[in-house]
Amino acid sequence: MSSETTPVAHFIRNIIEDDLKSGKHQSIVTRFPPEPNGYLHVGHAKSICLNFGMAADHQGKCNLRFDDTNPEKESEEYAQSIQDDVRWMGFQWDGAVRWASDYFDALYDYAVDLIKQGKAYVCDLTPDEMRAYRGTLTEAGRNSPFRERPVEENLDLFTRMKNGEFPDGAKVLRAKIDMAAPNINLRDPVIYRIKRAHHIRTGDKWCIYPMYDYTHCISDALEGITHSLCTLEFEDHRPLYDWCLDQLPVPCHPRQIEFSRLELQYTITSKRKLLQLVTENRVSGWNDPRMPTISGMRRRGYTPEGLREFAKRIGISKSDNTVDMSVLESSIRDDLETRVPRVMAVIKPLKVTITNFVEGETASREAGFHPNHPEFGSRLVPFSKEIWIEADDFAETPPPGWQRLTVGGEVRLRYSYVIKCDEAVKDGAGNVVELKCSIDPNTLGKNPEGRKVKGVIHWLSCAAALPAEIRLYDRLFTMPKPDGDKERDFQDFLNPHSLETVQGWIEACVKDIAPETRYQFERLGYFCSDRVEHQPGAKLVFNRTVTLKDSWAKEHG
Ligand code: ATP
Ligand code: MG
Repeated sequence: MSSETTPVAHFIRNIIEDDLKSGKHQSIVTRFPPEPNGYLHVGHAKSICLNFGMAADHQGKCNLRFDDTNPEKESEEYAQSIQDDVRWMGFQWDGAVRWASDYFDALYDYAVDLIKQGKAYVCDLTPDEMRAYRGTLTEAGRNSPFRERPVEENLDLFTRMKNGEFPDGAKVLRAKIDMAAPNINLRDPVIYRIKRAHHIRTGDKWCIYPMYDYTHCISDALEGITHSLCTLEFEDHRPLYDWCLDQLPVPCHPRQIEFSRLELQYTITSKRKLLQLVTENRVSGWNDPRMPTISGMRRRGYTPEGLREFAKRIGISKSDNTVDMSVLESSIRDDLETRVPRVMAVIKPLKVTITNFVEGETASREAGFHPNHPEFGSRLVPFSKEIWIEADDFAETPPPGWQRLTVGGEVRLRYSYVIKCDEAVKDGAGNVVELKCSIDPNTLGKNPEGRKVKGVIHWLSCAAALPAEIRLYDRLFTMPKPDGDKERDFQDFLNPHSLETVQGWIEACVKDIAPETRYQFERLGYFCSDRVEHQPGAKLVFNRTVTLKDSWAKEHG
């Protein structure tokens, strides 16, 4: 199913290929520039696949650069998780990890250069005043009263800002561009602010920090980036990106190209909101399997191959769109289908006693782990007098067309005999607690004579099966756009049934599997042993990755 080898055409690929063909570039350099202020999410996965993918497809390079210009929100833990996630996605950045903070000295020197050219000035307006001076979309801004400060005074003040002579927020350095520019980003944007905050890399060396727009373009240029790919909200910032590079003696002038963000139905792709779910304990952490984070999706059992396939299916364009969750789920399912072994597990067990079981005579069969992959091997599926079946596979009063078990009906036990249900045993409240069934001893590995038995169900030997904790995940939100309603808090739409934990049973052959081992549980879906809590040989914990079919649309749609 996977189409990993065939590249998908899109406008960015076309630009890159044209630039290589025309000789504008001999080779390309891209970068993935996350801010280490949270864990990466599925939207970042799209950006990772684009940036690393374009580099790989054209024998180019892709850098990993942390945009670490907001010291208060950033942490080493986030930076580490981002590296782990990029590697897990199957990509390797060129050379060492880079940090915008590596360029703080250069950025400072370039700011001095701008001041000397008369293209930057120190401004003492308060944030409120600055807002009032900025104007609006329909109204030009007004020049700051500090705009015409002489170069010498600006140099002196900027040095003193750096030396910590002024309190936080007292002054800023602004680019001197045009207060009447229709694009508000060009109305003398702030490029440095005073902020006494401990930085994860530079510690307390700096009390002034460069702003993102100023930092990003120069960092790109210093790294020789050829194509700086970013999401559409930066389109209006491109003139500023270009303005900075045009004023400064930087080694090259990368081309910024924007594409649309990934928005995914029934979830959110905002680090701020994801952080809120974590800090308010709505989920167990950034890697909760319900989270759209890369680490959450990984823990749930999603594969890098499946995520890369998803990135391919959604493509790259400039139009805003919200992708249906089923596109992600089917990418994962299609990847797992051909790659993971199959075993049987029972998640809502109902006991069945085989009344005509004969010790030493009633036999067990060998079964392969995958119908199309004999090389996956096989195991014995032990039969016994008592077996578990799925409670849902029995119905006392079955709906029309029922092919599973009912009193008086027959069904095939996968890899075993045809059984007939002779009696349903009930408790005092009238609930079915056990079935008494008999096998047709003539049906092991062959069809019954004189009749057709259509239904096949999964089952386990009670004597041989191992207990397992099985976590059934559903969508985290009940609304396609949980943060789409400005009047409502997105947390109002959390799905109260997004996690159901059950105690089930599983074949003994999985006893010693490592954490993060994937299986198809026949008829139930794809499951993955939990990375964090599964203990081989001791405590089996499985996460449902995805169901076998898109049952969600049917039930809820
Ligand atoms: P958020 O708004 O969730 O905080 P961000 O854009 O601030 O995200 P960054 O760490 O700055 O997060 O993002 C790193 C890169 O990933 C950027 O190039 C950004 O454009 C890209 N990116 C972030 N979110 C998405 C998304 N939903 N779809 C595609 N690319 C994204
Ligand atoms: Mg950002």
